[in-house]
Amino acid sequence: MIVDIHTHVGEYPGHIDERFAEQAREAWPDVKLGGTLEEHYAGALDGVDRCVVLAFNAPAAGFVVPNEYVADYVARDPERLIGFGAVDPSAPDAIEELERIKHDLRLAGCKLGPIYQDVDPLGPEFLRVCEALERLELPMMIHQGTTFARAGSLLQARPILLDEIALRFPELRIVIAHMGHPFFEEAIAVVRRHPHVYADVSALVSRRWLLWNALVQAVEYGVTDKLLFGTDFPFFTARQTMEGLRSVTGQAFGPQLPEIDPEVVEEIIHRPALELLGIG
Ligand SMILES: [Zn+2]
Repeated sequence: MIVDIHTHVGEYPGHIDERFAEQAREAWPDVKLGGTLEEHYAGALDGVDRCVVLAFNAPAAGFVVPNEYVADYVARDPERLIGFGAVDPSAPDAIEELERIKHDLRLAGCKLGPIYQDVDPLGPEFLRVCEALERLELPMMIHQGTTFARAGSLLQARPILLDEIALRFPELRIVIAHMGHPFFEEAIAVVRRHPHVYADVSALVSRRWLLWNALVQAVEYGVTDKLLFGTDFPFFTARQTMEGLRSVTGQAFGPQLPEIDPEVVEEIIHRPALELLGIG
């Protein structure tokens, strides 16, 4: 069983506004923005058994994929598609929306991204969302790392801030997207300290040296069992991601440097992520 814990849907125009699109193109000139649900279904499930489909709620950045859109889509094939909702912590009805995500839309988790939402992860608005997620037993997928989008500050994006959240909400399941890139040390330190904090390896294959460094650090700190397979589809496919992960094993950068055991990578690819997050 292979699970992709991190895939996106979203239409352009529609869910992605011009400001977000321009900033994306500055960073990735060839980026293809948006896609249909048919493209997602054919592409995201190619080479994996199940995938998580993320809503997004970041008006500050110009990227909003509604919870209903994701719920309707995953209802087409609930065996293979798992939906995560999203809330904007600054919205007055954020907690009611979380209740709706859980009880009405029957989504399995919640996506957050303070740097896209321009919100302080340790501020009262964000903490009340964390409190509700813990109470509702909804895992949190959090983009805690850098991005091309300039909605918020990098100071809101440090993985180390999640240490405080994990201390306050010890039953909350947290997945740090992209291993907190480029703040891998902070992400690994937080993952190591808390039994319910994980990190996904999505999108890291675009930077092979950084991917290798991140994995070596995870091996040396003994946390590779908390790394989950993810792609960031449509930006990367499962096949690309598996190939990229396998390409940094062994003597990938010559005999002088630490080697990553290919078995470590196979375990990441086959990790039972949904069971670990309590949504299997
Ligand atoms: Zn993503």
